[in-house]
Amino acid sequence: VQRIVVKVGTSTLTTEDGRLNIDKIKKIVMELSNLQNKGYDVILVTSGAVGAGMGLLNISEKPKTLAEKQMLSAVGQVSLMQIYQTLFKEHSKIIGQLLLTKEEFSNRKRYLNMRNVCNAFLKRKIIPIINENDAIVSNALKIKVGDNDTMSALVSGLIDADLLIILSDIDGLYNKNPRKYEDANLINMVGDISEDIKNMAGAEGSKFGTGGMITKIIAAEMVTKIGTSLVIASGDDPRNITRIVEKENIGTLFV
Ligand code: ADP
Repeated sequence: VQRIVVKVGTSTLTTEDGRLNIDKIKKIVMELSNLQNKGYDVILVTSGAVGAGMGLLNISEKPKTLAEKQMLSAVGQVSLMQIYQTLFKEHSKIIGQLLLTKEEFSNRKRYLNMRNVCNAFLKRKIIPIINENDAIVSNALKIKVGDNDTMSALVSGLIDADLLIILSDIDGLYNKNPRKYEDANLINMVGDISEDIKNMAGAEGSKFGTGGMITKIIAAEMVTKIGTSLVIASGDDPRNITRIVEKENIGTLFV
């Protein structure tokens, strides 16, 4: 079996006003279910909890304090999972939630345990839905809150994934930020993650996204080292997931 990790960002899961885009989530769920039916092991790393919390509490401004953000993510995580559960059930799929922190990956015992847990999920064809446990990580630990890009790379290593797909609001890595420069060009493939590539990624992300391109490049660096490929592509059309698995030339491929 081939193992595929799919990470969907806030910008893919939420609408302009920051609320969850249920229609989009439905399509993502269908793609993942179809892939599992075809025999792939699929793991979903999902953001969107803060957005879901904002929707529930009728808040339209990005949270200003860390505590507020963590509260929103805790509120939103529950409804996010409820939505995934309902939608996956329509495809007769069982899901399980794993809320992880980066610490799981820096302690060997916890790492091995985590790996056993993930494999237990996959053995029973249960789809693991992973999110960073935003509500309990602390800035004091110098852990960036809400960066599921590097989380998805860590998870890819954990379960020895063949492919990581990161879906964003942009169709891949451009040679410069396309939101600022009209003449920016999409890069189809990256073999060597040089300083030039990192500089292209800049620092800014979209309105509700957290990582921006740079965390995706860091994720690419992490996974390509261990032989996992990464594709960054647009989540606007979730059918991109299947297209990428079937090796269509979409987005930016890192090998
Ligand atoms: P997500 O929520 O999907 O993780 P982010 O908003 O964090 O998405 O990151 C994607 C954004 O990064 C793009 O919408 C774009 O504004 C910005 N960006 C900056 N530099 C680049 C670049 N070189 N190529 C593509 N996107 C870039």
